[in-house]
Amino acid sequence: MTEIPKQINNWIEGKETPAIAREWFDKLNPVNGTLLCQAARSRVADIDTAVESAKANQPSWADIPPVQRGQILHNIVLGMKTHQEKIAQIVAAETGKSFEDAYGETEGAIALGLFYASEGQRLYGRTTTSGNLNKYAMTVRQPLGVAGLIIAANTPIANVAWKVFPALICGNSAVLKAAEDTPATAWFFGKVALESGLPAGVLNIIQGYGLEAGAPLVAHPDLAVVSFTGSTAVGKVIQRVAGDRLARVSLELGGKNPLVVCDDADLENAVKWTILSAFSNAGQRCASASRIIIFASIYDIFREKLVEATKQVKIGPVINEKQLNNMLAAVGRAKEEGAKILIGGSRLPGEGYFMAPTLIENVSPQAEISQQELFGPIAILYCVQDFESALALANDSPYGLTASMHTRSIHRAVKFCEKVQTGVAVVNAGTYGSEPHMPFGGLKQSGNGTREPGTEALDVYSELKDIYINIDPEQL
Ligand code: NAD
Repeated sequence: MTEIPKQINNWIEGKETPAIAREWFDKLNPVNGTLLCQAARSRVADIDTAVESAKANQPSWADIPPVQRGQILHNIVLGMKTHQEKIAQIVAAETGKSFEDAYGETEGAIALGLFYASEGQRLYGRTTTSGNLNKYAMTVRQPLGVAGLIIAANTPIANVAWKVFPALICGNSAVLKAAEDTPATAWFFGKVALESGLPAGVLNIIQGYGLEAGAPLVAHPDLAVVSFTGSTAVGKVIQRVAGDRLARVSLELGGKNPLVVCDDADLENAVKWTILSAFSNAGQRCASASRIIIFASIYDIFREKLVEATKQVKIGPVINEKQLNNMLAAVGRAKEEGAKILIGGSRLPGEGYFMAPTLIENVSPQAEISQQELFGPIAILYCVQDFESALALANDSPYGLTASMHTRSIHRAVKFCEKVQTGVAVVNAGTYGSEPHMPFGGLKQSGNGTREPGTEALDVYSELKDIYINIDPEQL
């Protein structure tokens, strides 16, 4: 089975390094609340050494031609393939999700790694015409320097890959702050990367809490770019702190994503995708569907089918007890305001952090539970009269990450994709499932306008330089 060390160190300058103060924090098993391992409780001094290492090793990494950097990243991908089962076991142990789901996540991370390893051969700039005779104009991509990467715990190996591969292919070095709920996945990735030939200090990995390790990383003056995947509340703080020194910031934040079921939808397909979008990964996806918007003429029949299907759902735990208690409290407040719990609404018996798959109705679109992300297996059903009101309700959110519409009408599908205020629009499937070679990101409070991954992530991690070459005809 998994061999997660009892104590997980940082990776600094290619070496396993405990926190300078020799402090540790407990990582609990979400399935039963027992101690899984401890991880280095890093603070400012640890961040300083990690950034120092990244800074010292960045120039030589940047000097390696991008094609060769890509070959090293390709070797990391091969290392991930060699250890794929083990990675999946670690992900499953840390998150409580099934081995099958964890393995599926490793497939996504590997696909992304492959895509970016090959980007070394395609780090395109642009050549264009000049307005002047004997003058040539072009752009090239250059690294920024040290990248600070901060991630959430929901899909740990995918989240690591999503940040590390694009940052490194562009010639940056990096300090990755692992999510405190998934220290082992990040630690193991660091080990695979080193064993696969990544030079020491190009990727430093820090364990620790957000305020103690994440905040000093964001505030570090030597960081050229901060890329963050996490909550909107923390994203706003990061934007402010890094903005003060004009460091580049990429924010992949929360969502409260709508899935619309029209009166002409294939209801079986819509039920299937609603269940997957609301409850897979225990609803812990930025792209999960938490607002199910249903046409009035099929509301009763769809609700009945959905409740029946929800009874069959086998759910994993949420990541920690605090998140679970947040959800229970939010559901409790909604109930006090008159919400009707169709199914679920409570913790499942036992010591694990299991939230029952929950469907709620009779909630105002303005209610707290309609507007705030819960990041768990909780979805609200709304009844609407027609396409226009469905679209208006879909857009009535502070978030704008993903959306889906189920319909057989090409007219509704196209209009929905055009008008829905999200970074991703889907027809007849789930609200999640973005592919690694495609740009992902959100509008409004779901992000700050950047897109990762896809080739668009290269814009996050590289600087464009214009180059003009002038020819003196006298010298020919
Ligand atoms: P969180 O914001 O609490 O934590 C995310 C990371 O930020 C953790 O590593 C944490 O230690 C760190 N952190 C916390 N406070 C910090 C601070 N002040 N300065 C620097 N770093 C800090 O989020 P969470 O609850 O762990 O994760 C769930 C959130 O992540 C949800 O909102 C979800 O939608 C979002 N998410 C977004 C995407 C996306 O691509 N848009 C993907 C996955 C998760």
